[in-house]
Amino acid sequence: MKEALASFAKEISSPKKIFITTHVKPDADALGSSLGLANYLIKKGHDVTVVTPSDYPSFLNWMKGNEDVLDFSNPNDVNQAKKKLEEAEVIFCLDFSVLHRVNELGELIRDSDAYVVNIDHHQDPEDFADYRLWSTKAAATCELVYELIVDLGDKSLIDKDIAECLYAGIMTDTGGFRHPNTTKNVHLVVAELLDLGADTSQIANWIYDSNSVNRLKFIGFAISRRLVIREDLHLAYFTISKKDLKKYQSRTGDTEGLVNYALSLEGIKLAALFSEREDGIKISFRSSTEVAVNKFAAAYFNGGGHKNAAGGKSSLGLKETVELFESLVDKHQSELFAEVTLTA
Ligand code: 5GP
Ligand code: MN
Repeated sequence: MKEALASFAKEISSPKKIFITTHVKPDADALGSSLGLANYLIKKGHDVTVVTPSDYPSFLNWMKGNEDVLDFSNPNDVNQAKKKLEEAEVIFCLDFSVLHRVNELGELIRDSDAYVVNIDHHQDPEDFADYRLWSTKAAATCELVYELIVDLGDKSLIDKDIAECLYAGIMTDTGGFRHPNTTKNVHLVVAELLDLGADTSQIANWIYDSNSVNRLKFIGFAISRRLVIREDLHLAYFTISKKDLKKYQSRTGDTEGLVNYALSLEGIKLAALFSEREDGIKISFRSSTEVAVNKFAAAYFNGGGHKNAAGGKSSLGLKETVELFESLVDKHQSELFAEVTLTA
């Protein structure tokens, strides 16, 4: 066992008070890695609390341990969550590696005396952890959590519930095994998770086939009325206002995946979704293989993420944000589409 892993293993070799958190608006990888790990650590005799910085889509509610998750943005949960953080001996930060991704929780974690573990696969990590299991080669944080449990010699503790949490994150972060991050290792890990009992078609059904009528109508509306296509810039994007979200009674998770419709257009290399929220404009970026959208998000929109899937934010208005975005793409075309231009 490597030295760093051995010292981490020692840290959790006796029952500890453990606090697990993940990024704001958790997706299946964020919540699946958190609950997959939590269920394993509970089996090892630890006292485990999972706290999310915000709510998350209801299509993730099937995961084991969902009922016990505390939401730091919920006034009913926040005091208990703070108490658990203060008491924590070990803190796990999953599926993010910059502390502002957990809002106010970030600085509390920075100031904590607990042993901090960071497990993640996003680019440009901040150095805040005592033990870091980090690889951008991993398609999902769930893949890393699986490998960690195996490396600790505890594969036999992965039951159906844990396998399903971990499978969900790998399935969604690879875009249903379609993105270029779908490596041989992904398939090997998933094969093991199947062996360990994961019901893969059930999970796909829970996650992908749980649309409300409103959501489906919202997607139709967005595609027909809110999609802007700039073929000259290889660009397509959606602008969704607060009013639009209200009209379709949008719930958490309802805009997830919308941006992919823009990228699915032939010839489009860069897609974006601008949605107007209470605290500013939330931006999702997606790109074809050659375009590094995380660098663009970090440079201009206070964000980051993966090369082909990133996010950011803006405190300008919706219209101003979109104008700025178009002008930036126009101005930086040659760098953004450098490899496109080379191969064109
Ligand atoms: P999404 O568009 O699905 O919200 O996010 C796409 C990817 O970018 C996810 O991996 C997400 O974690 C990451 N991401 C989204 N917003 C931000 C952000 O503001 N900062 C950073 N560093 N990553 C982000
Ligand atoms: Mn992830």
